[in-house]
Amino acid sequence: MKTVAVVTVGAVAAEVLAEIELCLGRHFGLESQRLAPLGEPEFAWEPARQQYSVIAIMRELLRFCPPQAVRLLALTEKDLFIPMLSFVFGQAQLNGTLAIVSLARLRQEFYQLPANPPLLLARACKETVHEMGHTFGLTHCLERKCPMSLSTTIQQVDGKGENFCANCTIVLRESLQLLRSPDMLRTEEQP
Ligand SMILES: [Zn+2]
Ligand SMILES: [Zn+2]
Repeated sequence: MKTVAVVTVGAVAAEVLAEIELCLGRHFGLESQRLAPLGEPEFAWEPARQQYSVIAIMRELLRFCPPQAVRLLALTEKDLFIPMLSFVFGQAQLNGTLAIVSLARLRQEFYQLPANPPLLLARACKETVHEMGHTFGLTHCLERKCPMSLSTTIQQVDGKGENFCANCTIVLRESLQLLRSPDMLRTEEQP
């Protein structure tokens, strides 16, 4: 059984973790393996922006992927940024191993609204599906309802669903098939 290693960067609520693990099973058919939580990512703090550098965190995370895991998914409550954007909901390596999702701006409290746990879980699942989708080679989708559509605002996150559109489903299915039987690829490449 192929597994996704799940790790938290700083504290993350147990119910969010549990929901994300269900979400991974539902959309990718992958089992999760929870790793020991990582501490506060002080090394990634950017005082000028009052945010955490997702690049610095990802560089650190790459050392933690256990050999038996096919992907490493990190979850954090920290507000993340990349230099060219004011914030990111998450980040992933296209066709790579690593995906990270920030819960900071998925919480209603961030927008001075009352907490809404079910909404938080739904948003966290969509963003996890999105970032994990990138690791399986999916790029941004023009279908607004598809979780692979680009979200730069929380309204866009709420506007999309958690189920892949028909096109993304085809690409994902091929990626998952290769993951399950990598020998197929080798055979096809032989003359
Ligand atoms: Zn994306
Ligand atoms: Zn799509």
